[in-house]
Amino acid sequence: SAKEQGKNRYQTFNVSMDDHITLKVNLENGLRKAIELNEMSIAYQPKLELLSNEIIGVEALLRWKHSEYGNISPSTFIPLAEETGLILKLGDWVLREACLQLKKWEDEGVEHLGVSVNVSTIQFLQKDFVEKVEAILKDTLADPVYLELEITESSTMDTELVISKLKKLKQLGIKISIDDFGSGYSSLSHIKNLPIDILKIDKSFINDIENDHSNQAIVSTILALATNLNLKTIAEGVENERQYQILKEKGCDQIQGYYISKPVPVAEVSKLMHFKVTN
Ligand code: C2E
Ligand code: CA
Ligand code: CA
Ligand code: CA
Repeated sequence: SAKEQGKNRYQTFNVSMDDHITLKVNLENGLRKAIELNEMSIAYQPKLELLSNEIIGVEALLRWKHSEYGNISPSTFIPLAEETGLILKLGDWVLREACLQLKKWEDEGVEHLGVSVNVSTIQFLQKDFVEKVEAILKDTLADPVYLELEITESSTMDTELVISKLKKLKQLGIKISIDDFGSGYSSLSHIKNLPIDILKIDKSFINDIENDHSNQAIVSTILALATNLNLKTIAEGVENERQYQILKEKGCDQIQGYYISKPVPVAEVSKLMHFKVTN
């Protein structure tokens, strides 16, 4: 009967809600001890400088292999980490690991390879964020010149406090990039107030740029803005040769994306160092 069906539907809903909550609680508990259990790792995605045709750096991207659920995407666990505050611990860990890797490359004689690390707004807004970064640099002996922090725009970014924090980070010798530029809270007028180095053009604008004229126009505008503000540019999500060519013609400084390489384990980074686009 309709009533029974309704009841069943209600029960089905109930069960899946329970499952959903159980899964979330399990993930949260798992995330709490993931570092201790050695389940976290970093994948590095190369960045190609278009003028020199060389790999000049990599982006550090967190990877989590859960003992029961297997690989869990950052788009699942990063929001959970932000919700629960666990991002602070994870963020410290990634930054430390990335700096240790920088030092290792330096010791091995791998030259001029920069590393960028994603920083959540929650992390950045911590009172002692700059001190934490400073302490990690001191502990690991990493050269700050090769470290870049990727932060995203948000409405909380345009304050004196944030600007002074960015200035302090830059005084340490670190570079700052605005990640996902153009996709979120984007005030062209306030970007000029921020002491930053690089605009990272969001991949939604690179997607289908070979056919999409409005994306072409947006990217040209961002590149012109960057030139005027004396900022470097990197396009993310470059997946094919056409997109690479268009960005090169438009004068974008760097590209990143599956066309060059997916994020790879650290052992594969050195193999990619001598990558060249041969056209
Ligand atoms: P994001 O910082 O914008 O990183 C770029 C994402 O796009 C990465 O996904 C990367 O694997 C993916 N990607 C790279 N090239 C291509 C391409 O050509 N095509 C397509 N379709 N995708 C491409 P991933 O690794 O799954 O990370 C997703 C997001 O999770 C990141 O976006 C970042 O916001 C966050 N995240 C990852 N690691 C960290 C971390 O250590 N700390 C923080 N706070 N967030 C992180
Ligand atoms: Ca990023
Ligand atoms: Ca991005
Ligand atoms: Ca993104």
